[in-house]
Amino acid sequence: MFVKLFSTPNHYYCLDVNKDEFLELSFASYQYLAQILNGEEVKTMPPEEILDLKKAGYLSEKSNVKKVKHAITDYLEEFLERKLSRIILQVTQNCNLRCKYCIYSEEHSIMQRSHSSKNMSWETAKAALNFLWEHSVDSSSINVGFYGGEPLLQMPLIKQVIEYSKKLFKGKKLTFNMTTNGTLLDEEKILYLQEEEISLMISLDGPKEINDMNRVFVNGTGTYDTVMKKIELMREIAPEYAKKLSISMVIDPQNDFDCINSICLGKNDVDKLNILPSIVDKGYDGEKTVSSDIYRWKSRYEGFLAILSYLGRYEKEKVSPIALASINSEIERRFEVETSRLFEVDTPSGPCIAGQMRLFCNVEGLLFPCERVSENSKAMCLGTLDSGFNIDNAKQLLNVGALTSDACKECWCFRYCMLCCKKADSGQGTLDAAVKLSYCSESKGNAYHKLMLYLLLKEINVDYLPQMRYRVQKGEDIV
Ligand code: SF4
Ligand code: SF4
Ligand code: SF4
Repeated sequence: MFVKLFSTPNHYYCLDVNKDEFLELSFASYQYLAQILNGEEVKTMPPEEILDLKKAGYLSEKSNVKKVKHAITDYLEEFLERKLSRIILQVTQNCNLRCKYCIYSEEHSIMQRSHSSKNMSWETAKAALNFLWEHSVDSSSINVGFYGGEPLLQMPLIKQVIEYSKKLFKGKKLTFNMTTNGTLLDEEKILYLQEEEISLMISLDGPKEINDMNRVFVNGTGTYDTVMKKIELMREIAPEYAKKLSISMVIDPQNDFDCINSICLGKNDVDKLNILPSIVDKGYDGEKTVSSDIYRWKSRYEGFLAILSYLGRYEKEKVSPIALASINSEIERRFEVETSRLFEVDTPSGPCIAGQMRLFCNVEGLLFPCERVSENSKAMCLGTLDSGFNIDNAKQLLNVGALTSDACKECWCFRYCMLCCKKADSGQGTLDAAVKLSYCSESKGNAYHKLMLYLLLKEINVDYLPQMRYRVQKGEDIV
């Protein structure tokens, strides 16, 4: 039967995968379905409720999906021709840091490029902007991102790009953003970035003892003190701009969560910034990321407090901003996404529209679906600025679901799977089904966790979290 069972302390449910609907069940029906799913021989008659649901078209035996194909496939060429709105420029491959987990570090990246001194030339940057202009006829908003290596090493190029973009995209809403390690910020750069309203994200992994374990200069010394001084300088000379700063926090879940979180306890006011946590990516080391028990326990507890604070039952100020940020995205994603039944031709949810969402252009003018995939992988390359998009490759990346279609068609997680082409990269220039399938249990675990949260919140009548959060922020009593 194509269902997935869920139980909360109060209720029993099954997710009818074909219809993408949750059905609340009696305990007897739940048990009956559990026995069937476990392959046990069931000698009793199905409960009345099960028979009624079947009559109503629920609880079908087989998946509706006959073929895995992304709905955009036949229009992808047009999408890439007219609907781009964003480009991320790798302005340099050089970096003044040698973070120990860096995907570009020589000892780690078996599948990624290594650190190098290559910079993007003005000719390439200009060609990338022209490429975006030519392929964004239907887009009224344009975003240009600066990425590295360390982009602040290429300030003159960045200024040229900004000046040229302002002329080129006149009439469209134009925004810029930059991801930086922050160590090279100075007064002049801060004031320039403020003037141009560049949305800035600085990397900082936690308090000094955590940050400096991994985030080090080329000579091996920690970067914490330098970065904090730069943030303080920004607060001094550009206080309004500093308030908009985001902190990218790469978390190594081998560490103690409380220790990582201690940076958010008011001492340095980092908690007043927008913290965007992510877990260290070891995929291109050929490894899986493993959490320590102490990290898991404490982060789950903080996650629980974060939910309580959403419900107005706990003071938000006392909850870890890291946990709040994680829960934010988890809750809102489910509540904002419309449910959608499975169609005969369908694709597991998750993958972006390769190239259209966050086109990445490296120093040499090679194009990739985003900055997170391997630049060494032919399978990930979407083409070049000179030759344009390689539509066949783009279609393959978009249709990474088809690679594992037999497993996906029968998978309860079909609508909630977030595995994209990056997770199928063999490192040998091909997409590999076995590599992708090795991430399935992680993907299903994440989906299960989100759906449980959704059910629990539904049970207490929380129907529309973003709206509720707005009311909490405004100080309204919602309980
Ligand atoms: S700052 Fe970024 S690019 Fe530089 S070493 Fe650290 S993680 Fe790598
Ligand atoms: S990580 Fe995957 S889904 Fe996300 S932007 Fe990159 S290619 Fe797309
Ligand atoms: S979890 Fe695995 S089998 Fe399930 S939809 Fe995702 S890729 Fe397919």
